Amino acid sequence: MQLAQELEECDWVPRPRLAPLRRLGIGTVGDLLTHFPRRHEDRREFAGFPREESEKPICICGEVTKTAVRRFGGWKKIFEATLQEADPNALSEPLVLRWFNLHYVQKMIATGQRLVVFGKPKLRGQRICMEHPEFEVIENDEEESIHFRRITPIYPATEGLSQRVFRGLVYHALENLADDEVETLLPRNHGTGSRRFALQQIHFPESMEALAEARAHLVFSEFFGMQMMIAARRAQASARPGEPHCGSGELLESFLRALPFDLTEAQARVLAEVRRDMASKEPMNRLLQGDVGSGKTVVAIGAMLLAVEAGYQAAFMAPTQILAEQHYAVLGRWLEPLGVRLALRTGARSEENTPLPLFAQGERRSEIRGSAGCQPAVSGSLPETSSGITEPNYHRRRLPHFERPWAKYAITFATRRHRILSEAARDIVMESILRWNEQRYALYAACVMPDHVHLLIEPMIERDDDDGKPVFFPLTKILHTIKSFTANRINKTENVKGVVWETESFDRVIRSESDLQEKFGYITSNPWESKVVAPGAGYLWVWYPDVEAERGEGGRAQIFAAGCREEQAGSLRYPAPENRFPQIIIGTHALLYEGAGLENPGLVVIDEQHKFGVSQRARLTSREPAPDVLVMTATPIPRTLTMTVYGDLDVSIIDQMPANRGKIVTAVRDPSKLTDVLAFLRKELEAGRQAYVIYPLIDESEKLDVKAAAAEFELWRERLRPFRCDLLHGRIPAPEKQAIMERFRRGETSALISTTVIEVGVDVPNATVMLVENAERFGLAQLHQLRGRIGRGEHKSYCILLSTEKLPETVTKLAVLERTSNGFEVAEADWEQRGPGDLLGTAQSGLPALKLGNLKTDMGLMQRARAAANAIMEWDPKLEAAENQRFRPLVVEERGRTFSHVS
Ligand code: ADP
Ligand code: MG
Repeated sequence: MQLAQELEECDWVPRPRLAPLRRLGIGTVGDLLTHFPRRHEDRREFAGFPREESEKPICICGEVTKTAVRRFGGWKKIFEATLQEADPNALSEPLVLRWFNLHYVQKMIATGQRLVVFGKPKLRGQRICMEHPEFEVIENDEEESIHFRRITPIYPATEGLSQRVFRGLVYHALENLADDEVETLLPRNHGTGSRRFALQQIHFPESMEALAEARAHLVFSEFFGMQMMIAARRAQASARPGEPHCGSGELLESFLRALPFDLTEAQARVLAEVRRDMASKEPMNRLLQGDVGSGKTVVAIGAMLLAVEAGYQAAFMAPTQILAEQHYAVLGRWLEPLGVRLALRTGARSEENTPLPLFAQGERRSEIRGSAGCQPAVSGSLPETSSGITEPNYHRRRLPHFERPWAKYAITFATRRHRILSEAARDIVMESILRWNEQRYALYAACVMPDHVHLLIEPMIERDDDDGKPVFFPLTKILHTIKSFTANRINKTENVKGVVWETESFDRVIRSESDLQEKFGYITSNPWESKVVAPGAGYLWVWYPDVEAERGEGGRAQIFAAGCREEQAGSLRYPAPENRFPQIIIGTHALLYEGAGLENPGLVVIDEQHKFGVSQRARLTSREPAPDVLVMTATPIPRTLTMTVYGDLDVSIIDQMPANRGKIVTAVRDPSKLTDVLAFLRKELEAGRQAYVIYPLIDESEKLDVKAAAAEFELWRERLRPFRCDLLHGRIPAPEKQAIMERFRRGETSALISTTVIEVGVDVPNATVMLVENAERFGLAQLHQLRGRIGRGEHKSYCILLSTEKLPETVTKLAVLERTSNGFEVAEADWEQRGPGDLLGTAQSGLPALKLGNLKTDMGLMQRARAAANAIMEWDPKLEAAENQRFRPLVVEERGRTFSHVS
């Protein structure tokens, strides 16, 4: 028998057991043997019957002398069984076992049976009881030797299988397993015994010592497997072709000189580490850890400047739009004086920037309708393709913007089936567009692409209606004219027959000056952005008011009739070609997708990595040659986790706060003290400081009740009158959110009433109070993050945690924050309280879940395993040596579990 053997093929597994086993994820013998016991009971010698209460559970054995069912409160039932010691003496007292409302227990226990029970003895009235003990009935069959008179394994959830059945199966599996069927996959010099023996002992140990040894062996090999996979990832990453991305440092120098402060020693050290990595040919994969406010951003900017100076682009990916916008503003302030070109790409913006949905078919139309808050209209004749599709209800007459006088539109129409227009055909189209300029519309910009056309126009007045009101040229008519005017001539010139234009087209009304600018920029740079032409090369079928002036005498554009209302178009600037390529792109997840404008990234910085998964990181950095990667996190990570979740990264730590930081005082208060708290808050605001109030909608994904948020806001505004407040939450549209943040940053508002959207990275040094309502509902790490929003300037700051909860856990939890402001200490405490599971996305790490090892308590083993794995992979990264080939299965990334499972 082998470990890989399917249980279905084993005749000693009763058929009815297969389904429950499968539910537990157990399909093979190997699975069965790695379903490790949750604990063991020493059933070699049972404890004596308890005479008093104890917090420590004990394991005893006795005979049932009586059972009874009592009722209480109507339908509720208590089942009681009285247990007698096997050899009772004068002093021994019976023990009462009690179960509440557990019908099945009643069926399993009967007078005369012998039971093994495990539980805590409690005093109930005069009697010693055990409530809901675990129990097992001793049946006098030949299998007794498996279940009793030994150190007996107790398994985790065996739903549908009794402990006894499960134990029996494991016992049989071990009996059938030959010694040489189990390979011990450990480096020779680290091996302590064989895996076969360890498996035997972890289930059915000969002694407690043997059990501990077996566990250590298995945990070590589990960690070793994990570390081999991490080491392989790391080897793979550094084997990818990379290149140095490090400039001479002059730009960096001028940046540092212009900063209003000196770098802390820690910042300087980390920047040097990063610089060394960037100068090397191997791709950098570095994790930068630093507490909230330790100044990671400055280091990241320094690194990005090195890449820019070397002629590469740098990308800066932030987890939320607010943060991206903030970074964009901060970087703009610092870098634009240095002449560095920045661009912002966030979900909202890039949506606007992508080409309009040219080729959308009927079924996609509803989707288009909702996008970006613009109302697209079907102009031209309605599509012929609409058979079978319910026509969406937006006939153009109903569109509000259609009635708007002097509206400007961005319009796109395409050729049928991507038909490519020859250059001569493009001339015809451009001529036609210009021909109707000033007759039916004022033209702001036009671009004839090989298979579609963009226009930015303002329709003119066609006539007056009966009431004497102006009627504008409808877009339908305008487009129809252009299309019909060109179609025949194009076919003739190209000497082909067939439909030239798609009947559908799309338009968006221009809503603001900035919208106009943006559309203008988009249309006039489209050939370059979409790489139809090379950077710097010319493209003749772009037109805008001063194109003639720019192209000079004799340019091809002269053939087009010119003329446009210059005075209106005067504000539009055509970006000079070399400016179209930003050197630093800041953004959100939008950066992960094509069209973000990342042409040759030399460095990718990922801020607050715990919000992203490994696969997303891979997506951004998997191109070749590989860019350097700097991952930043403000969530301090306990060491064992660093060795696992981030195990494939080199680690730099900023372990020093900038000087000049005001102290942060943290206090937990009962809401009954609200009056005092408010008085204090107002005092701070009067002194010119600002405050955050976090209100208890903990999770942004929780369906946010906008009405409740508004009520909350009203309440706070009343409390803080006459100081100005703003409300911030996840449902507020991005541009507005940004405006709110900007007002706060400029000090126009005194308080921000917010959900946790401000959690990470927001930086307003004048804010000195952080008030958190229902603080008990937040995790420690999250509270620490929130607290990191204050204490960023020279003023003393105050974090006030309001909480009514008196549960000991909550009190201890919040007390941690009163005690320390050191992020690593908070993280360790958090880790103590919650365990690693949800501390950060272990699931996102793509590493297999641990079955036995404990990241908290087995740190020493993890260190040894890591050292062993690194030693092997360093001298034999491809595992070619004879003695290493056997490790190859360890480093195979299982598909569906790793990179592919997140995004
Ligand atoms: P975080 O590590 O949380 O991302 P930031 O990079 O946002 O921290 O920095 C927090 C604040 O500290 C910013 O306002 C930044 O300008 C400032 N800062 C960074 N480095 C220093 C320094 N060496 N001395 C003084 N202030 C600094
Ligand atoms: Mg930050």
